[in-house]
Amino acid sequence: MEEYKKEVFLTTSNILLTSSQFFLRNFEVLKKNTMNHFLSLLCIFLLMLKSIASFSQTVKGTSQEVNTTTPKNIVLLIGDGMGLSQISAGFFYGDQPSNFERFPVVGLLKTSASSDLITDSAASGTAYASGIKTYNGAIGMTKDTVAVKTIVELVSESDMSTGLIATSSITHATPASFYAHVASRRSYEEIATFLPHSDVDFFAGGGLKFFSERSDGRDLISELEQQGFELSTQSLPKQPSEKKQAILLAEDALPTMLEGRGNFLPEATQLALDHLSENTNGFFLMVEGSQIDWGGHANDADYLIAEQLDFDTTIGVVLAYMIENPDTLLIVTADHETGGFTLATDTGDYNKIKPSFSTTGHSASLIPIFAKGPGANLFGGIYENTGVFHKIMDLLENR
Ligand SMILES: [Zn+2]
Repeated sequence: MEEYKKEVFLTTSNILLTSSQFFLRNFEVLKKNTMNHFLSLLCIFLLMLKSIASFSQTVKGTSQEVNTTTPKNIVLLIGDGMGLSQISAGFFYGDQPSNFERFPVVGLLKTSASSDLITDSAASGTAYASGIKTYNGAIGMTKDTVAVKTIVELVSESDMSTGLIATSSITHATPASFYAHVASRRSYEEIATFLPHSDVDFFAGGGLKFFSERSDGRDLISELEQQGFELSTQSLPKQPSEKKQAILLAEDALPTMLEGRGNFLPEATQLALDHLSENTNGFFLMVEGSQIDWGGHANDADYLIAEQLDFDTTIGVVLAYMIENPDTLLIVTADHETGGFTLATDTGDYNKIKPSFSTTGHSASLIPIFAKGPGANLFGGIYENTGVFHKIMDLLENR
């Protein structure tokens, strides 16, 4: 079908080109000839245009009802701390072929913050959520600490649904950047106060204590329920709720994969897709593989690789959804690289890989970005991380 569409497009463009050349070539002659000649040539030209138009319409009628340039749904998957070596590790240590191989478009992102060459998750999260460069630590704030609208707030204005998922606390920097506005990422209790009254329709992660055991005594669990959320704190529900959904399965972060987190991330992603699909206006969903970063900070390759493989599985869930829902754009990227991770040789033996680290912090490497679905072609090339937000908003404006 793809090949067929390409061919039709080329044929149509060729006809258009030939007819314009025909018109231009005859223009010199026209100037010397009578007006009658001009009018008859104009008629021929218009007739050709009309036949092209009806030809294009037939093509549209015979193709699937899928808009190939404007997505209905947007899914943004962020592997926190996931550089190219982390992604590559999935190719060497996974049992299955990596889902990263399934993307037709790949690009690279520049991630520096306004304050530092090397970004943190807050500044980079704010770049994705709001399209601005800000200082390390800022959540939904400009570098002058002025609140800036997030994509969650913006798409909700056009009645799209929104969802956020993380394996950290839901108040951690990356997810927080999509709904909160605070000067410091460490203000977890303040960040939590934004969620009940936010435009988020579905969220899943950890961080229960920031809602239920607060130093100010405020009961955010009741506030969530008052705002129409159905709350789950024990396990991931099997079916999506008809109400808004709040899923908080740990006091702070969820367990690591090595500690037995199981299929939380892929299953929560599937549940979110089922929940958000109910809205015929489409949705925006952000899913973070939060702990790839923590494996990097700990310089623990086993931790990192287990989290990376879990994230890879989650990509597979969205790609499977896209087979039935091809009007979904999937973007997969990271906020920065963590650990200066590399797949080095083991004592010079080129047939043995020894995962190694060069720092316990973040690094300045360019970050890969992958895209598939309507509008994916916009995401190739090398550009600033803020460009991701602007490209998504440009695509949504054309809806
Ligand atoms: Zn980090």
